Amino acid sequence: MPLLNELTIKQAREGLDAKEFSSVELTMACLDRIKKRNKKINAFITVTEELALQEAEKADKQIKQKKQTILTGIPFSIKDAICVKDVRSTGSAKILDNYIAPYESTVITKIREQGAVLLGKNNCDAFGHGASNENSMYGPVKNPHDEKRVAGGSSGGSAAAVADHQCIFSIAEDTGGSIRQPASFCGIVGLRPSYGRNSRFGIMPMASSLDTVGPMGKTVEDVAILESIMAGKDEKDATTVFDKVTNYLKKKKETLQSGGQARNKKQKLRVGVPKEYFEKEGLDVEVRSIIEENIEKLKGLNVEIVEVSLPHTKYAIPVYYIIVPSEDSSNLGRLDGIRYGVQAKHKNLYEAYSKSRAQGFPEEVKRRIMIGTYALSAGYYDAYYKKAQKVRTLIKQDFEEVFGLVDVLITPTSPFPAFKIGEKKDDVLAMYLADVFVAPASLAGLPAISVPAGKTKSGLPVGLQMIGPRMGEQIVFNLASILEDQNT
Ligand code: GLN
Repeated sequence: MPLLNELTIKQAREGLDAKEFSSVELTMACLDRIKKRNKKINAFITVTEELALQEAEKADKQIKQKKQTILTGIPFSIKDAICVKDVRSTGSAKILDNYIAPYESTVITKIREQGAVLLGKNNCDAFGHGASNENSMYGPVKNPHDEKRVAGGSSGGSAAAVADHQCIFSIAEDTGGSIRQPASFCGIVGLRPSYGRNSRFGIMPMASSLDTVGPMGKTVEDVAILESIMAGKDEKDATTVFDKVTNYLKKKKETLQSGGQARNKKQKLRVGVPKEYFEKEGLDVEVRSIIEENIEKLKGLNVEIVEVSLPHTKYAIPVYYIIVPSEDSSNLGRLDGIRYGVQAKHKNLYEAYSKSRAQGFPEEVKRRIMIGTYALSAGYYDAYYKKAQKVRTLIKQDFEEVFGLVDVLITPTSPFPAFKIGEKKDDVLAMYLADVFVAPASLAGLPAISVPAGKTKSGLPVGLQMIGPRMGEQIVFNLASILEDQNT
């Protein structure tokens, strides 16, 4: 029998409804686990214990009256770059150390309206900048599978909290891989939705033309449950689209026969394997062979595997690291030590700005502000930002062409498993290259999921990424779930 904190959403729902345990008991099990493990793993910056117990009691009353909905009484956590009303929200930077958000992210309100119980806020790379969680001003998150290694980033706290059973699920943000890469390092499931699918209102903005918010959980089914709740138009985020939101759980079984949703329903499901993602250089041999084994499993299920090419993939990292710092630098202008958060001691207005920002931002945030300000400045805008946007269009067109041929793409999520804490910290470019397989789908606004694919000989999880056509979450969930069945 798993411990209560080890349950999935589905198992917790069944147990709560059958009165095998109460929400207070389930919540206490998670809080006890957090207390026991937080000093080591460092997944939480703020634990909302009192609030959690109040919400759990309320949930138990609702269950007693048979008024429960899908998440009633189920404890979860939230990346600290997402605002929750009346709860401290630091973005993992000291400039917001004392910031209590006066309003709440739309997706979090949707999750809480379904009765989920908030346990607290997760550590992350400050403002989402990073691939290892070492850019947090509250210390790195340790990987529960090997505490000498990183949990991934930027949503390392959320991934570690789910993997270490400190919560049942977590909500996080993905601009250029921040949900998928830590999910892969920690052996859990994480979805980046299509750009415009979920409202970003109340998420601390990073790079507005790429930012998304999505779910992290223990199974594909749990993540699909959460995405069905989070998706939809929101008048507070003009980029959200009107689109019929399906219940993502329903159609899984039809997939193998139907050929997915993108093409002729009579054909076999076609899965594309982009050859640029499997080139030897930089790809760990164990990761490669684990992903190839998974592809073989799909062949055994009568799926047609097609080699495809995304020729502009090689430009994804340079393009990403022009566009993202540019938008970062613009968005971070609002954090001036005057309107929000902590203000440093100062003698005049200039010092108020410069000292608050110098003390309140970690090194990587400052680097991005400088690169971005440069790339956007007069005379350089055309040469850098505008050119990068043009190449971004080519990357997007590569995907559009390929989705005329196949239903889904399969790639490794990361070129390597979790690396050692400190290993890449002083080599900025090596850290940026960690995003090589996750940045392209982000630039193209596509949905992508990371699912556990296996473990290395030393026991480190390896994640497999599935990328779908725009608004194609359904096919991504279906195939991910089929593969999950093969691997469990
Ligand atoms: N590694 C990416 C970066 O540093 C992750 C960003 C994100 O998705 N928040 O930009």
